[in-house]
Amino acid sequence: MSLEPRPGILDIKPYKPGAADAPGIANPVKLSSNENPMGCSPLARSAFEATSKNLNLYPDGGATRLRVAIGEANGLDPDRIVCGTGSDELLQLLGRAYLSPGDKVVQSQYGFLVYRLVAMQSGAELVSAEEKDFTADVDALVKAAGDDARIVFLANPNNPTGTYISHDDVRRLREALPESTLLVVDEAYAEYVDEPDYGTAFGLANEYDNVVVTRTFSKIHGLAALRLGWAYADKSIIDVLNRVRGPFNVNLPAIDAGIAAIKDTGFQQRSAEHNRQGLAFMRQQLGGMGLDVTPSVGNFLLVHFPETKGKTAADADAWLTSKGLIVRPVAAYGLPGALRITIGLDTDNRKVADALAEFMAA
Ligand SMILES: *Cc1c(COP(=O)(O)O)cnc(C)c1O
Repeated sequence: MSLEPRPGILDIKPYKPGAADAPGIANPVKLSSNENPMGCSPLARSAFEATSKNLNLYPDGGATRLRVAIGEANGLDPDRIVCGTGSDELLQLLGRAYLSPGDKVVQSQYGFLVYRLVAMQSGAELVSAEEKDFTADVDALVKAAGDDARIVFLANPNNPTGTYISHDDVRRLREALPESTLLVVDEAYAEYVDEPDYGTAFGLANEYDNVVVTRTFSKIHGLAALRLGWAYADKSIIDVLNRVRGPFNVNLPAIDAGIAAIKDTGFQQRSAEHNRQGLAFMRQQLGGMGLDVTPSVGNFLLVHFPETKGKTAADADAWLTSKGLIVRPVAAYGLPGALRITIGLDTDNRKVADALAEFMAA
């Protein structure tokens, strides 16, 4: 080939999203991408529809109205917020701005796959710190970071494990890392968590100029299709991200729907409550079948299957797919023995539980 990309680019395995089809089944149940089974806020949908009259217009490149609405909803300074095409884009931009070839990036063992992509795109080296009980381990992260990590990525709660570390532990991590290491706390599922020792890292981002918190509209707000996320950090970091993002990176329908969504606390509460009940139901059902379920505070469960022939995670995945129930294999995360199952509508949760009961008994 005469035209070669930068070294390392061809080593990247493209991100594989959750499957959406089950062969031969017309309306499968998609529980593979942690989407909100309740849809989105009706107010967000109305705002989206109203925007269809203005599709000829460029959006405000700074997404100012949206940042103000996010700031009001969370008690944050809008000047310390930058919006992105999904929090994915913000993670990519952090890599673009802060990573050079050979730099060290640290994540926990079963960290979100996008961190690996971000590191590889910049030719950086990804180091994974071993987890304990499928949970990030602060001491292992600090050790892996040493004195020269450029970025430490922590999803809290994490996907695909669903586990979290306490607010005190996130602080301990920041305190133990060198000043020159950027700590990125990915809070894609924060709105679902109500454990008393959990807390957002917004406060740390106020105190430290080397902490970035990312949030998304894809999960509890149910707007994954619009690709909308945001980051909160010291103004020096926001300034950097504003220099490397596209001039109109967030589109107008996303801005208008996002403003309506962030204000609709009722929808957020209903989604969280539905998820709480669905999580408890699924944990109880699957645990009752003898399956090992990692305790999750997200909108999904990591379920571990036996290695017995006929009963493996791959067998369970094929069985569920044959019944039109699409879940997420997580072998790419180094978890070939597990499946990640999103909490769905009650009827769909029941279908998964019944199908797995049949599978385990067969
Ligand atoms: C779903 C998810 C996101 C959100 O990505 P978007 O690009 O905002 O849709 C970010 N981080 C983690 C860990 C996730 O699971």
